[in-house]
Amino acid sequence: MTATPLVTRSREELAAARVELADGDVAVVMTMGALHEGHARLIRTARTRARYVLVTIFLNPLQFGPKEDLSKYPRTFDDDVDICTREGVDLVFAPTPDVIYPDGDPGVRISAGPLGDVLEGQSRPGHFDGMLTVVAKLMHLTRGDFFYYGQKDAQQLLLIRRMVRDIDFPATVVSVPTVREEDGLAMSSRNTYLSGSDREAALVLSRALQAGADRAEEGPSAIRRAAREVLITEPLALSDYLVLVHPSSLEEVPEWYRGEALLAVAARVGTTRLIDNFPVLVGPGGGGLEVFSDVPHAALHG
Ligand code: AMP
Repeated sequence: MTATPLVTRSREELAAARVELADGDVAVVMTMGALHEGHARLIRTARTRARYVLVTIFLNPLQFGPKEDLSKYPRTFDDDVDICTREGVDLVFAPTPDVIYPDGDPGVRISAGPLGDVLEGQSRPGHFDGMLTVVAKLMHLTRGDFFYYGQKDAQQLLLIRRMVRDIDFPATVVSVPTVREEDGLAMSSRNTYLSGSDREAALVLSRALQAGADRAEEGPSAIRRAAREVLITEPLALSDYLVLVHPSSLEEVPEWYRGEALLAVAARVGTTRLIDNFPVLVGPGGGGLEVFSDVPHAALHG
C-alpha cells in the first residue's frame, strides 16, 4: 500500500514541503488534472530518474481563449490524487488561480515568439504565451531539477525547451512518447467529450499519421499525400491542419529534406478540437519514431 502524497494548495505549503525533499533530485510533472494513463506514464518515467516526483495540478486560465473549453474542462481531483497515490507521487501542488495569479491577470508574460504563432498558435492566439508563463512560474515555485512533458503536445514541448534555453532556466526538460489507446487514439483529457460516433471518427487522426509514416522512405510529398488521403475519408473530422514540418523550426520541410520531421494534425470532431503527431524519420530506412533523437537538429536553412 503506497502512501497518499502530501497535497499542497498554497505557495507557503509547497515551499515547506519542498524543503523536506532537499536530499534528492525532484522531477516535476505539470498537468491540468483529469489524469489518465498518459500522465501516469510521465510520472513513472520521472520516477526512474529522480528520487522525488512532484505533480502539479492546475487548470491555467491564461492559456484558454474566451471561446475555449475552460469552464467545461473535466475536473476529477479525487481520482487524480488516487492516480498520484498509485504511481507513488511524493508531493502534489494543486493551487487555485488566485494563488498563481495573486494580482489577477499578470501584466508581464513570457512571449513564445514566432513559433507560438503557427499551427496551434494560429487557432489559439495567446495560448502559448499563457502556457509558457505558467510553466515558468511553476518551474520557479517547484524548484524541480527535471521536468517531464509529453510528445503528444509537440509544439508545447518545443516551446518549453526553447524557453529554458533562450532565457537560461536551470532546468532539464525530458520528453515522453505519446501514450495511445489500443486502437491508436492518443490519450487526452478532452477525449471524455467525445460521443460514441465522434470517438470512432477521432481514430482518423492517428490512422492518417500512420499512413503518412508508412511512406516515410519516399519523401515529404508521399508522406503528406498518404496522410491527407486517409484524413479526408472521415466526414465527421474537420481538419484544421495536417503538416510535415521541421522539428525545431516548425517550417514545412522541402521535398529534398531527409531526416527527422514532425507529422502533425489538428481536427475538430463534433465540438472537440483534437491534436496528434508522429515524429518521423524521412528518407531511406525511415518511418515513425517514438520521440526525436537528442541530437540537436541542424537548422533547416544553413
Ligand atoms: P495536460 O494535463 O493535458 O496539460 O498534460 C500534462 C502533460 O501530460 C503534458 O506534458 C502533456 O504533453 C502530457 N500528456 C498528455 N497526454 C499525453 C499522452 N497521451 N501521452 C503522453 N503524454 C501526454
